[in-house]
Amino acid sequence: MKSAKPHILIIYTGGTIGMIEDAATHSLRPFDFNHLIDNVPKIKMLDYCIDHVQFDPPIDSSDMNPSHWQEIARCVEKNYSSYDGFVILHGTDTMAYTASALSFMLENLSKPVIITGSQLPIGEVRTDGEENLITALQIAAATTRTGAPMVQEVAILFENYLWRGNRSTKMSADNFNAFKSNNYPSLAKIGLGVHFNTDALWRSPARRPLSVKYNMDESVTVIDLYPGISEKILRYQLSAPGIKGIVLKTYGAGNAPTAQWFTDAIREAVDRGVVILNVTQCVNGGVHDKRYYSGNRLAEAGVVSGHDMTSEAAITKMMFLFGLDMPPEEVRKHIGYSLCGEITV
Ligand code: ASP
Repeated sequence: MKSAKPHILIIYTGGTIGMIEDAATHSLRPFDFNHLIDNVPKIKMLDYCIDHVQFDPPIDSSDMNPSHWQEIARCVEKNYSSYDGFVILHGTDTMAYTASALSFMLENLSKPVIITGSQLPIGEVRTDGEENLITALQIAAATTRTGAPMVQEVAILFENYLWRGNRSTKMSADNFNAFKSNNYPSLAKIGLGVHFNTDALWRSPARRPLSVKYNMDESVTVIDLYPGISEKILRYQLSAPGIKGIVLKTYGAGNAPTAQWFTDAIREAVDRGVVILNVTQCVNGGVHDKRYYSGNRLAEAGVVSGHDMTSEAAITKMMFLFGLDMPPEEVRKHIGYSLCGEITV
């Protein structure tokens, strides 16, 4: 029988937290889990049963792709009933994408999946990795007064905050507080203690067993607008071979050029069945596509509003919905609704 101690599974995928300096090139490269854990002797002071699995080999998160998300999701599914929570150690570069993707793939999740990493390797004197790892373990083990898991979603723990995974964005390549969720409050503040913002925590409306959806369709892309984008380039991007969905990163409240060629190119892509989702380039706020004439033209051309979704959530949600084999009309319908708290409705 499982003991009363919290049982936590660490999934080590790589990232700076476990990196060491290559003697020849002096650049950082991923290293194995034993090196990482040997640098956190304090972990033994937590009275938890901790097991781990590791990517073989561990990777820099710039190499992450949907097959890695599947590997993580498979590991969570396989061990779901044996552990109270999961801590994923991951590079910061694509952490927000992985957090968003997993939030969709792990349908009906009701246990904590806490993703963390660090800006400085765990072997360095001033590392932030030790504290991040220990706090992530504590959050994964935290329970409510009734003994239920406190966190029942995919979240990113970094330095002083716990953020909803599918609301997070990497904001800094230098600061220890590297992540932020610009359109949603923090799930917890980390100071002398861990202070949960219980009103902000996700609670699934229906208690259903975990159901992992593995298939992510990669026939999607992102188009980031800029003044000077030409018709030739835009049309080329809109008609990439096999393209099913596009995240269009627009200006401000969801605005785009009003030139006739621009609207025509967008409308023609929509008519070909390509789902185009409007998300803002701004880090804060969202799309209000009826506010300006320029945004309204996009809406009239059939572009769907992504409201206040991050572009990380938008692109992974498209992969997820097309991965369910939904026809474009269905994807268009579902993409603007909240599946697991990624959008304010
Ligand atoms: N390049 C590293 C990675 O994403 C950066 C980090 O972990 O902070 O794996």
